[in-house]
Amino acid sequence: MRIPLIAGNWKMNTNVGEAVQLAKEIRQGAACYSNLEKLVCPPFISLSSVCKELAGTEIKLGAQNMYYEAKGAFTGEISPLMLESLCEYVILGHSERRQYFAESGALLSKKILAALKHGLNPVLCVGENLQQYEAGQTRTVVADQLNTSLAGVERTETLTIAYEPVWAIGTGRAATSLQAQETIAFIRSLFLNRYGENAASKIRILYGGSVTPGNIAEFVGQKDIDGALVGGASLKAADFTSMVKITSEVCLKIIK
Ligand code: PEP
Repeated sequence: MRIPLIAGNWKMNTNVGEAVQLAKEIRQGAACYSNLEKLVCPPFISLSSVCKELAGTEIKLGAQNMYYEAKGAFTGEISPLMLESLCEYVILGHSERRQYFAESGALLSKKILAALKHGLNPVLCVGENLQQYEAGQTRTVVADQLNTSLAGVERTETLTIAYEPVWAIGTGRAATSLQAQETIAFIRSLFLNRYGENAASKIRILYGGSVTPGNIAEFVGQKDIDGALVGGASLKAADFTSMVKITSEVCLKIIK
């Protein structure tokens, strides 16, 4: 059985005070739902304060990125060694990192290996852009991103994949639940080929891209979709709580 995950990616939003307030409201609303994992990923500067705010709850904390070296002369970077005492998760390969910071599969494989080495659970994002989607290249793109990013990765127990079509991120144009299910089932089949049946049945795969309280039930009701990575709608505590509640209810009815 796979435990669903609802993850909030706050991106480059909130100062420290706002992040703590948002975490506090999420704690008050969402902490009581226990049949799924809840995760918030604030900006780096707020991790420590949000960590304190969430102490003693089952709401997990994650970073939005990290460098792969443990320490050294890498001005401006944050290392897995710095994160390991604060967070359980780290988002890697978000499409905004790939697009604006030229992150490649080769770099991501180093980051994933470093995260695993330091006990951090990577949430690896993959997904095609609009041009690739329109050219019917979704499967090729996603397979290539997974192949390159997972080079050298042998253990997948603590890995989560987020399928996020770039054309759906922040656009209000979510994929249909059937489109998401189809691609996510394909991703699971890639894990079957590469890591075997046990790993494929256990790997947690999320959908991300304009998920809201209004459409989340359709996604998490699909056989292979194990939760959501949410950007915009995770910045409102009431919406995040509502998505946690809906997922909790849907997942009580189905065992994946
Ligand atoms: C994201 O940033 O990963 C994301 C899915 O954003 P949004 O929910 O705003 O589309």
